[in-house]
Amino acid sequence: MLLIDCPYCGLRPEIEFSYGGEAHLARPQRPSDLDDQAWSDFLYTRANVKGVHAERWRHARGCGRFFNALRDTTSDRILATYETGRPRPDVAPGTAKPPPSGGGA
Ligand SMILES: [Zn+2]
Repeated sequence: MLLIDCPYCGLRPEIEFSYGGEAHLARPQRPSDLDDQAWSDFLYTRANVKGVHAERWRHARGCGRFFNALRDTTSDRILATYETGRPRPDVAPGTAKPPPSGGGA
């Protein structure tokens, strides 16, 4: 079973979490100033990263809070988790901490 490290609760089973899309997306300050293409890009265009991807997750069946995670899309390993509003940590693919005994994926 994959364990995810909630920044507020610690390691919990994956089934307690829900994926919330790409992290660090900033809503335009004045959406009415954007043309249709720019607005469409903000709403629908997302990175399709091969490697480390910043994602938003929610501990839906735990504390209920949102947080960010860096996941290596090539291995499906979560390299780091951090509270929303904090800057993205600097980690490289393949640097995930080994899972505790009995965990991992
Ligand atoms: Zn939590």
